[in-house]
Amino acid sequence: MAGIITQVSSDTALNDAVYAGLQETEEGARLRTCLQCGTCSGVCPFGYLMEYPPSRMVGALRAGTFDSILATDTVWMCVSCYACTEVCPAKIPLTPGLMTRAKEELLLAGNIPNELQNALEYSQRYGNPLGESPRKRADWTRGLDPPVSIMKKVKRPVDVLWFVGDYPSYHARVQTASVALVRILDALDVDFGILGPEEQSDADSQRLAGERGLFEMLAEKNGRAFSKYRFKEIITTDPHAYNALKNEYPNLGIDYPVRHYTQFLAERLHDLKPFLKNELKARVTFHDPCYLGRANDVYDEPRQLLEAIPGLKLVEMSHHHQNSLCCGGGGGGMWLDGFQWEKAHVRLSEWRVREAVAVGADILAVACPYESPRFEDATKMIQDARGLVVKDIAELLAEAMEEEVES
Ligand code: SF4
Ligand code: SF4
Repeated sequence: MAGIITQVSSDTALNDAVYAGLQETEEGARLRTCLQCGTCSGVCPFGYLMEYPPSRMVGALRAGTFDSILATDTVWMCVSCYACTEVCPAKIPLTPGLMTRAKEELLLAGNIPNELQNALEYSQRYGNPLGESPRKRADWTRGLDPPVSIMKKVKRPVDVLWFVGDYPSYHARVQTASVALVRILDALDVDFGILGPEEQSDADSQRLAGERGLFEMLAEKNGRAFSKYRFKEIITTDPHAYNALKNEYPNLGIDYPVRHYTQFLAERLHDLKPFLKNELKARVTFHDPCYLGRANDVYDEPRQLLEAIPGLKLVEMSHHHQNSLCCGGGGGGMWLDGFQWEKAHVRLSEWRVREAVAVGADILAVACPYESPRFEDATKMIQDARGLVVKDIAELLAEAMEEEVES
């Protein structure tokens, strides 16, 4: 699968091309200011396993030996979690810069785990990494009353275009959160529609896994679909889609107001609160998704929504806000579970579930579609976590709504 990077003929040329490319932006030029303090590698959840954790990679680049990383495969342990970027005292954007650039070169060199290759090929062929039929993208809405508006069918402007995303559309566990969000939007009388079969993967995780060309292809398809309809703003279920539409699509001329659904609902908390009548007597802890929190500084809105649920007690895990732990699904990690298990014999999602158990949580609340399946799997692996329930914030809000009790 070809990216957009130009092949270079010698190792020195490769090093020069990578270094020069990274320094084209003001942020990338900060690479020169690296202190070699190693903080990035220390905070990296898999840094201890990487032959080239971020600080060592910067060192290789400076030494003109960047090509040496192409012989290793442990760069694929990077889950693009932004932890290194967050802590770097020189403010070097390691996650979207050097780490992603290294993955692009690994792809070009053919050094790619099979499971990731499959997800990328599915994305190219079907417009989603799960290999599902594009025609079935809106099947999850079947039987909902009132029906969800699919833009191509309703042929009218809407206030809100909901970019549903891959896993919320196709994955059975995550679809329950999609249905919950429909119920909330309907209760709030939000005029919304979805693209259905016209929606493609936001492709942000594919981009961070090194496939910039595929990202641009899918982004342009989404951009063409957006341009066919009239709406005031886009909301996303998926923080990765939010990140793509907010920060990356505008570079391709695809520029619309976009918010994550937790931001959208938090703004309407005054209207939402009267519906939240059922008490949820539970200790709940919230997992900050990397692409809502560290990548985009959205920390308060998910917590405001949870705290609006009567009876709910919000507690924080030892890692939270900017210091949150990754679930392991980002940057292609969703499609590298087998590879990463072979290397680490532990899953990041299990570390996180242990933290939730340690604070006595009954419920681990999430706001990213990668997380419910990952954390639920992890609860099955950890004896003390058998009673821990994993729920999306949309599911918790829907359960607190009066209609949920009556059904
Ligand atoms: S944290 Fe920043 S300054 Fe320190 S080694 Fe890593 S990249 Fe260099
Ligand atoms: S983005 Fe996360 S996983 Fe990747 S190198 Fe940085 S800290 Fe490690």
